[in-house]
Amino acid sequence: MSVLPKSVEKVIEKFGEIPGVGPKSASRMAYHYLRSPNKDASKLAEALIAMDENVVNCSKCFNVSEDEECNICSSPLRKSEKICVVEEPLDVVAFENSGVYDGVYFVLGGAISPADGITSEELRFKELKGRVLELLDTNDVLEVIIATNPSLEGEATASYILDMFQTLEQKDRIRVSRLAMGLPTGADLEYADRLTLKKALEGRRDI
Ligand SMILES: [Zn+2]
Repeated sequence: MSVLPKSVEKVIEKFGEIPGVGPKSASRMAYHYLRSPNKDASKLAEALIAMDENVVNCSKCFNVSEDEECNICSSPLRKSEKICVVEEPLDVVAFENSGVYDGVYFVLGGAISPADGITSEELRFKELKGRVLELLDTNDVLEVIIATNPSLEGEATASYILDMFQTLEQKDRIRVSRLAMGLPTGADLEYADRLTLKKALEGRRDI
C-alpha cells in the first residue's frame, strides 16, 4: 500500500514521464508544488493547458507556433533560398540563439531510428519534399542544409534526404550541404553552444 495520497502519486508519475527526470527529481518537483504558497501548481496547470490549446505546428516548416505560419516563415527578413532541416523544434531555438542563420527551417519531427521503431514513414519527408518544391518556385537555386544530429540516426536521416532529392527532376537546382563536423558524434544539436554551432554552420560543405 502506498503511503502517498493518490493525487500526489499521479503528479510524481507525470513529472517522471519527462525525459531526463528520474523518480527522485519527480518527487522533489511534486513536493515543491505541494508546498508552494502562491497557487503555483494552478499556475503551472494553466500554463500547460494554454500551451496545449494554443500551440500548433507551422504549416510551412512544422516548427511550434501560435499562428498558422510561424514568426520565421512569415518574416520578410528571412531568405527563402536556404532551408535548414532539423530534427526538433529545440534545434531551431539553438540556431536562432547562435544568430548566424538567416534562412528558413524545416522540422522533421525526429530522426530515422529502427531500434526505436521510427521509420521514414513517421517523419515529415513528404512534407519536406513539398516545401522544397514550393521554394523552388521562387528561387532558381535552393540550398538545403541538413542539420540533423551528428549521431547514427542523424546520419541515416541525412542520407535519406540526400537520396530523396537526387531522384527529383529539379535536382540540379538543389544544393545539399551538411554541417561541418566539430560537433562531437552523438551530441545533441539543441545543447551545442553558440560558437560550436556557428562554426558548424559556417563550415558546412556540399554533399
Ligand atoms: Zn514556419
